[in-house]
Amino acid sequence: MKIFNTLSGQKENLPENRPLRLFVCGPTVYNYAHIGNARTYVSFDNFVSYLRSRGIKVSYLQNITDVDDKIIKRGLEESVSPMEIAGKYEKIYHEDEKSLKIDSVNKYARATDHIPEIIKQIQILIEKGHAYKIENEGYYYDISTFKEYGKLSKRTAEQAEDATSRIDEGVNKKNKGDFALWKFPKSEVGGNKNGKSFAIINGEPIWNTPLGWGRPGWHIEDTAITEKYFGPQYDIHGGAVDLKFPHHEAEIAQQEAASGKKPLVKIWMHTGFLLFGEEKMSKSSGKFVSIRDFLKMYSADIFRYIIASHNYRSPINYTDQLAIEAGKNINSIIEFLTKISLVKKSGTPQIDIAKYEKSFIDSLDDDFNTPKALSVIFDLINEANLKIQSITKKDAVSAKKYIAEKLGLFKVSVKMPRIPLKIRLLAWRRKLLRNNKQFAKSDLLRKKIEALGYKIDDTPLGTIILKS
Ligand SMILES: [Zn+2]
Repeated sequence: MKIFNTLSGQKENLPENRPLRLFVCGPTVYNYAHIGNARTYVSFDNFVSYLRSRGIKVSYLQNITDVDDKIIKRGLEESVSPMEIAGKYEKIYHEDEKSLKIDSVNKYARATDHIPEIIKQIQILIEKGHAYKIENEGYYYDISTFKEYGKLSKRTAEQAEDATSRIDEGVNKKNKGDFALWKFPKSEVGGNKNGKSFAIINGEPIWNTPLGWGRPGWHIEDTAITEKYFGPQYDIHGGAVDLKFPHHEAEIAQQEAASGKKPLVKIWMHTGFLLFGEEKMSKSSGKFVSIRDFLKMYSADIFRYIIASHNYRSPINYTDQLAIEAGKNINSIIEFLTKISLVKKSGTPQIDIAKYEKSFIDSLDDDFNTPKALSVIFDLINEANLKIQSITKKDAVSAKKYIAEKLGLFKVSVKMPRIPLKIRLLAWRRKLLRNNKQFAKSDLLRKKIEALGYKIDDTPLGTIILKS
């Protein structure tokens, strides 16, 4: 299987290591996650689900950023402890994952559960001359000591220099692009706190460590966590494209400088934006649809279909129309499955499923091209529809099984709805009327069925009832 590696700018073979170690940047838990965030998580869930279906073992690790400026701000606004905010939204994050059928992550690792690992890594960076201290501010990474800074995002040293990270605006830094590894407390730590290992002062959670009281910067938790579970080098790192710089660039600088080994990861996979109107969906701009709001309107199947019908690297322009179209496509598949359930013919199979399976796998093995894989399913539906009079029951059974299984990889369920007895009776009465050529009356019954949310379709193989 080949995957586009952001670092090399080329499609590369998946590493041969088994199990494959995959790390994806998890959420900062301070608010409801939006469908732009969910796009990344669902994309990687699909990816892992596919790899596992091919017999490839994957060890999938995700971090939870549960200490951050945004969490502290939220806690102060709501007059609750930052840990309470983080705990609440972490729980909500897992609930949302469940609603979206995301279940492939093996291990979630909280930043605050890895303070000793974070400290150890910063100490190594200090020893090796990559980090320096600014009084009253914290420890910073000196990007001028890491010559390859910018290699992932393809920024030159000057461009990297000009960009300030979202959280590190310190005025006394050696280089503008230097980022915080450890942040000293904003307020004075009273003497009575000195015997303690943890405190919350003016809403800021701080730890008592060999580097002094403080809390970690944003980037260091990821490398401390991945080093603990995967070692200094691993296979795949994933995340949304906007994390490429400075976040992932900082991870490379931290871990490669600390261990002296490179590359930190073999393949960097980045998911495209989910755009809302002209802009990227983001909480800070206020332009976003939360996962919960989306699910009030549409199903998880619809969301998962939208994600699968786009290449993971391409932007998605989110509109209600997109969700409506996805719903229609799912319904058309269900309609097809309902229809071929009526096939009774025996004889030699007419459809070569193996041919479709080959194209399906070829599509996904080529940089996980899910839209192309979906089109293979529609090719199969088209062939079956064209041959509807000649296909056999065996064809129908294997096509149904195949389609459900393949869509199941993307966790799009195409279960045929249970039709209530009342509707089935109406359809039966309609049929009798039609048999007696009482078409005006039978049409009234059709309208009645439609008013109850179902529709009748008279196919060449017989009548089917569908949810409308
Ligand atoms: Zn991260």
